[in-house]
Amino acid sequence: MSLIIDWLFPRKCFGCGQGEGYLCSLCETKIKNGELIKKNGFEGIISIYKYDGVIKNIIEKIKYGFVSDASEEMAQKMARKLKIDYPNIVEYWQKEKYCLLPIPLHQQRQRWRGFNQSEILAEKLSKILKLKYKNNIIIRKLKIKNQAQIKNREEKWKNMINVFEIATKGNMPKKVILVDDVITSGATMTAALKTLKNSGTNLGWGLTLAGVQK
Ligand SMILES: [Zn+2]
Repeated sequence: MSLIIDWLFPRKCFGCGQGEGYLCSLCETKIKNGELIKKNGFEGIISIYKYDGVIKNIIEKIKYGFVSDASEEMAQKMARKLKIDYPNIVEYWQKEKYCLLPIPLHQQRQRWRGFNQSEILAEKLSKILKLKYKNNIIIRKLKIKNQAQIKNREEKWKNMINVFEIATKGNMPKKVILVDDVITSGATMTAALKTLKNSGTNLGWGLTLAGVQK
C-alpha cells in the first residue's frame, strides 16, 4: 500500500518539487514566521508559520489530498522552531505538565479523510517535546459548515457556538495546549477552550502550524 501511495504521491518538496521531504530546508527559509498572540481566555496562541505561500499549499494538500505523513514532517519542524523561537515557553509547558489536545474534526469528516491532521500534529509534538497528549477529551457534536467556506467573521462565530462537548468522564486536564493546523479568526480554538474551561480546565494555550495574520 505504501508503495502505491509513494507512486501516487511522490514525496517531493511542495515548494520546489525537489527531494528532501515535503518541505526542503531552502523553501522553509522562504516561509514567513508566525506569531505569538494574546487572545481572550488564552495565555497565548502561537502560530509557527504565516499561513501563506508554500505552507498554505501544504496544509491544503494535507486536508484535501490525504497526505497524512506530511503532518508528521510538519510536527517535527514545529517542534524544532518552538525550541529555537520559544525555548522559555516550551520549558514552562514541560515544567507545568501541560497536555496537548488536538482540535477534533467532525466524525463524518474524519471518516471521509481517514485521519485528523491536528491529532497527528499533537501526538508527534508530544513525543518530541515530552509533553502529555490526550485525544477524545472533546468532540464536535453538531455537523457544521466547513469554517473555510464562511467568509463573514460573525457567521463564523455563530457557526461555532456550542459545537464542542466533553467526551470523557475521567479527569479533565487542568492545563492544556490546543493544537490545530491553522488559525484564522480563532473562533474554533476559543469555542474549544470555553468548553474545556466550563468542565475544569484552568489554563490554555493554542498552538498551530500556521496562522492568518491581520
Ligand atoms: Zn523546496
